[in-house]
Amino acid sequence: MTDDRRKQRVLIVDDAPENIRVLAQVLKPLYTVRFATSGKEALDLATSGDPLDLVLLDIMMPEMDGYEVCRRIKASEKTRHIPVIFITAMNEEEDETRGLELGAVDYITKPFSKAIVKARVRTHLELKRHRDILENLSSMDGLTGIPNRRRFDEFVETEWLNGVREAKPLSLIMIDIDYFGAYNNTYNHLAGDDCLKRVAATLTGCLRRPTDFVARYGGEEFSAVLPKTDLEGAAHLAEQMRTAVEDLRIPHESSPISDWVTISLGVASTLPFRDSTAKFLIVGSDSVLFDAKKAGRNQVKTMQL
Ligand code: GH3
Ligand code: MG
Ligand code: MG
Repeated sequence: MTDDRRKQRVLIVDDAPENIRVLAQVLKPLYTVRFATSGKEALDLATSGDPLDLVLLDIMMPEMDGYEVCRRIKASEKTRHIPVIFITAMNEEEDETRGLELGAVDYITKPFSKAIVKARVRTHLELKRHRDILENLSSMDGLTGIPNRRRFDEFVETEWLNGVREAKPLSLIMIDIDYFGAYNNTYNHLAGDDCLKRVAATLTGCLRRPTDFVARYGGEEFSAVLPKTDLEGAAHLAEQMRTAVEDLRIPHESSPISDWVTISLGVASTLPFRDSTAKFLIVGSDSVLFDAKKAGRNQVKTMQL
């Protein structure tokens, strides 16, 4: 989850170190400042470093100019949400128009006033922060604080496409709490909510790789997406999840199969292929989850698709 009050990160791009120095002096007390002296370096930082919140971009630079850097930032799904402000000596109306049409949020001409740069940067970073908060709210489940179904749908489709492109397996674990209706009836709905929160946190705590992902799929169901993971690896993680939830020892006296809250898990794995979607994997893992339920619950069932 993103931290609402984290220090925001600004990238200054200019081929003249002196310009960077002046801007850094103004911004460093307020933000985490990174800098690049070429377009290529800027794009590398934008795509591979810690996420940026704003780019201050010079236009006239050797090799790749600022327009091209901006065009590429706006063309990539990964970076298009980063606001760009041009800071440039090019002060013709058509230069500014071109910059704004490329998707920059602002255009400042050199020589600039430090106070004005500071104020404009502050405004755009505030807007960025608010957009991040909204984005975060719309993809998080309000009760458990983990990603919601909407985010799940997005994530799993993206990973399906990545799997096709990279020819790497994709695995999915469908998870359902056993006899949760009975749990609610025995301990009340609020206790049920608490249980859901603890299970969600526990499942999330089982993830090991930065690309692994778990969401609340709906009601008392969760789903984990494991990119570049084969059936064996996914089954191993599923078993760890099953044990971790059992080890919480949340009393469940109306469960016919255990003294504690337990989960059933269905694991499906495949090599994603063109002309299909993640739906293929979702349907598969759902049906193995059903097998786990039928076989007595509190267990993992797997299927290679
Ligand atoms: P099974 O072992 O077959 O999965 O049985 P189950 O009782 O867990 O499954 P069922 O689908 O019959 O019931 C799910 C229950 O989960 C019913 C519903 O009230 C409860 N539930 C769904 N969402 C929430 C929620 O947000 N909070 C609480 N407290 N309960 C919820
Ligand atoms: Mg269910
Ligand atoms: Mg259930």
